[in-house]
Amino acid sequence: EKVITSGPGDEQKKHDAALRPKLLKEVIGQRKVAERLEIAVRASKKLNEPLGHILFDGPPGLGKTTFATVLPNELGTSLQMTSGPALAKPADLLPFLTNLEEGSVLFIDEIHRMPRVVEEFIYPAMEDFRIDIVLGEGMSARTISMTLKRFTLIGATTRSGMLSGPMRDRFKMHEHLEFYSVDELATIATVNAAKLNTPITSQASLELARRSRGTPRVANSRLHWTRSFAAAQHDGTITEEVARAALDMAEVDRDGLDKNDRKYLETLIDLYGGGPTGVEALAATINLASDTLSDEIEPYLLREQYITRSPRGRVAMPRAYSALGKLPPVPKPK
Ligand code: ATP
Repeated sequence: EKVITSGPGDEQKKHDAALRPKLLKEVIGQRKVAERLEIAVRASKKLNEPLGHILFDGPPGLGKTTFATVLPNELGTSLQMTSGPALAKPADLLPFLTNLEEGSVLFIDEIHRMPRVVEEFIYPAMEDFRIDIVLGEGMSARTISMTLKRFTLIGATTRSGMLSGPMRDRFKMHEHLEFYSVDELATIATVNAAKLNTPITSQASLELARRSRGTPRVANSRLHWTRSFAAAQHDGTITEEVARAALDMAEVDRDGLDKNDRKYLETLIDLYGGGPTGVEALAATINLASDTLSDEIEPYLLREQYITRSPRGRVAMPRAYSALGKLPPVPKPK
């Protein structure tokens, strides 16, 4: 029996669900991805075949779950959600597979964290909509084959490189989600503020967007904080001035870097002389999991050229020094 507890993350999850686009046409940005998915959905309906399995990859908070929830809405089918770490053994998948409806979607988040035995168990399900269940042990063991409803598997991963080749090959579509532009994030802030009945100026939306690390989920959480700040300290309207004050108070700097980003850059520069240094050493010093560093913190710092990756580890770039108000090291004369 599962005990349902409520944790600090729950409020955020509820907000996320309320703000999530329901249909592809409400999805902002990621146009190429959305257009390809539109085609796939239309084809699936016309051919009366389930949508081919889809793999989404990219840094957290860019809309993988959003796409996974939008697609069943578009198809008019049901959705079941689970995640790699929750699937420790093949039997953990059974309730989901037996609950499938014709054409329905099974979403597995963090699919790269599914153990190999579960991965192998799922192959025939993906290929032939069939699973092989082993009953008994040793000499008396026998395998029974069970036919499943035709379904669509949607996998999401922050690390497609960690998926096995055979697993990756079984997805018909691979969609990579990239960071959003400031204009796209500003649109998301405007649309979501309206959903929250909060007046916001277009300048304020842009300010939030510039300081959201290219990530819709971050934009949403900055919006929530700014909305609270506006209600508590002002008349509830989010103006550019209010947004600035709110984000400064949240210790989000003018470039949108937060405390963890700065901690990372400070450690790399002050303790490791700007690198190159390994992610494990950085993680140990900052006291964060190295997965958090490489999945959540580094992708944005890399893309915005605060750091680069070299064979010997991470290296701070000039932009990192200026973000911290430091002078970059003077190159040694030859
Ligand atoms: P994870 O990888 O951890 O599952 P994610 O990449 O799936 O994260 P979502 O949970 O889908 O990210 O996105 C978080 C929130 O950001 C959504 O609830 C939604 O409000 C907003 N959002 C994400 N992508 C878009 C988009 N393209 N258009 C509008 N809003 C979006």
